[in-house]
Amino acid sequence: MCKKVIIIGAGITGIAAALRLLEQGYRVTVVDASPEVGGLAGSVILDGVPIDRYYHFICREDRDLIKFVKELGLEDKLSWREAATSCFINGKVYPFNTPVDLLKFYPTPFSQRVRFGIHVAASQFRKSWRGLDKIAAKPWLIGRVGMLAYMTIWDPLLRVKFGEFHEQISAAWIWHRIHRVSRSRSSLFGLNSYGFLEQGCHTLVTRILEKLSGSEKFSLTLNRRVSKILIEQGKARAVLLEDGETIQADSIISTCAIPHFLKLVPSLGLYGANLASIKYLNVVCTIFELDRPFSNNFWLNVNDPRVSFNGIVETTNLNPRDDLQGKNLLYIPYYMNSDNPRWGWMDEAFFNEYISALKVINPEFNDDWIVGRHVFRDVNAQAVCLAGFSEVIPPMRTPIHGLYITDSAQYYPEDRTLSASVRLASSVVKLLTGDL
Ligand SMILES: Cc1cc2nc3c(=O)[nH]c(=O)nc-3n(C[C@H](O)[C@H](O)[C@H](O)COP(=O)(O)OP(=O)(O)OC[C@H]3O[C@@H](n4cnc5c(N)ncnc54)[C@H](O)[C@@H]3O)c2cc1C
Repeated sequence: MCKKVIIIGAGITGIAAALRLLEQGYRVTVVDASPEVGGLAGSVILDGVPIDRYYHFICREDRDLIKFVKELGLEDKLSWREAATSCFINGKVYPFNTPVDLLKFYPTPFSQRVRFGIHVAASQFRKSWRGLDKIAAKPWLIGRVGMLAYMTIWDPLLRVKFGEFHEQISAAWIWHRIHRVSRSRSSLFGLNSYGFLEQGCHTLVTRILEKLSGSEKFSLTLNRRVSKILIEQGKARAVLLEDGETIQADSIISTCAIPHFLKLVPSLGLYGANLASIKYLNVVCTIFELDRPFSNNFWLNVNDPRVSFNGIVETTNLNPRDDLQGKNLLYIPYYMNSDNPRWGWMDEAFFNEYISALKVINPEFNDDWIVGRHVFRDVNAQAVCLAGFSEVIPPMRTPIHGLYITDSAQYYPEDRTLSASVRLASSVVKLLTGDL
């Protein structure tokens, strides 16, 4: 009889791990609390067409994802396109793509614009991050680009995203973000070129599900939350679902964010204390469907005291999506703790505030452009990687025999990416099968 593995979470990591296990002859049951597959890479169907709940783009450095996409036979669904980035600073939009744009970036002194450009180029070619691990991004960036350039470009991005933690974010983590994006540039004077799948993450998730469903050794349980991992004599034996059903297994992989995982297990001693020390932020992402483009940018960084958010992602300027029949998608992400009053806001409060802000950014914008609007929320959507995070990265093998975890904290110094999720899925399966 072949061994059975339960995977908690049907996000990309969970379903990619399921695929790897099936390839090796294991029986797999994937359980997810949500009614849909995909987790943070899930989609919502609008007028019969799937769109990402959270925007997703691919960089040339996302090698594990690109390889996986090929392996799934989705190569013809992956396209690359140049896409513009700009910065909205105190009432003015500055293109932010080429060295010429940088030289015309008047909000910072000339010498700091040059230093900024040199820093991006150096980060692009830098390979090792260990030397940056213990340093906070703020002093590192100020030292490299200068105080005014930091305050104009980096401070608003870090402050709005990480709130109280913004001064402690690891320099290695920021370096990787600069590195990943800057290596997507095709030429010095061109725009960055990003990848996207035909119907976003839906294309990926659907293909993985097709592959999984073809195996009789696979089962999927949706809309049912795991409430406990049952442990006997130091070994993980089963999961208990909220409705009381128990599912037995030889091994268990949890792919849910660590704060969720910690609710499923008894105290895990020092290992658990380390997990509990990692901070997470929730995300609230507002999507406006517009009947015309808001701008010609894919990415617009925002630094203006009248606007609460720090960026807009207009995904249809990367992937125009013929199937949306002329609609344009504008994503506005916002990260926060659960104790931030905005976390309790009704959707309408976000719409009202953001519509006013969009009018500040583009005075031509008016409510008539909006043909649809949505808000999506997820708790623990972003691990906060503080300086020294390399010492905190949790091992995938837990102290409980047969119990493994994956979490975005293990991507460090990489930020959350689908590519890192796919990589982690393969790594955890390798570890587990080696142990069995
Ligand atoms: C706003 C935003 C933008 C992003 N942009 C990009 C991008 O541009 N490019 C890119 O590559 N990546 C991007 N990402 C990151 C990418 O979406 C994630 O790295 C990836 O989806 C994580 O997958 P996962 O399976 O590890 O986790 P998750 O997607 O979080 O999946 C975990 C699953 O566990 C389930 N679960 C939790 N608790 C339980 C329980 N008790 N019982 C059962 N199930 C449970 C959840 O319902 C969830 O489905 C973005 C993420 C966000 C939030």
